[in-house]
Amino acid sequence: MDRSEGDVHPLGNPHYWLDPRNGLVIARHIANRLKQLDPQNAEQYEKNYQQFETKLKEKMAAWQKQLAPLRGKKIIAYHKSLPYFADWSGIVIAGFVEPKPGIPPNPGHLLSLIDKIKSEKIPLIVSENFYDPKPSEQLAEKTGAKFIVISTSVNGDPSVKTYEDLFEVMIQKLLGAQ
Ligand SMILES: [Zn+2]
Repeated sequence: MDRSEGDVHPLGNPHYWLDPRNGLVIARHIANRLKQLDPQNAEQYEKNYQQFETKLKEKMAAWQKQLAPLRGKKIIAYHKSLPYFADWSGIVIAGFVEPKPGIPPNPGHLLSLIDKIKSEKIPLIVSENFYDPKPSEQLAEKTGAKFIVISTSVNGDPSVKTYEDLFEVMIQKLLGAQ
């Protein structure tokens, strides 16, 4: 594969941190590497990791309960950044505003999405905050679906200061749009 058709995910989907289970794996690797590089402080790195794991696992259990009404619900997403989140949360991504990752929508693609949203009664369009909101707003206007903007990275939005905030804020926004 190459990027000739604009796909910005030629090596597979890179948005793996949007499943909190993967956050634990990432943190474990970082802690292990830090322990190797700085063995004098190994105990502290391990303690920090354990704290992160305990807190995140508690949150994950709470989030899973909150996510119950969203499980199996369809959304349209702007960019292909939420498949990992969908896998964990049970939300179903029925289509993307971008025809391919990194390619802005053309009128034909938007028309086919309008048909899809109407025929499948998809209630919600979700976009990351750094993409042009206009195509998503148009889709919402033409179909009656709601449109919300989310941050998919830490510090991507003033309300998202930690890894936990990332999910907390996203889940509350998704629930608020029901
Ligand atoms: Zn991407």
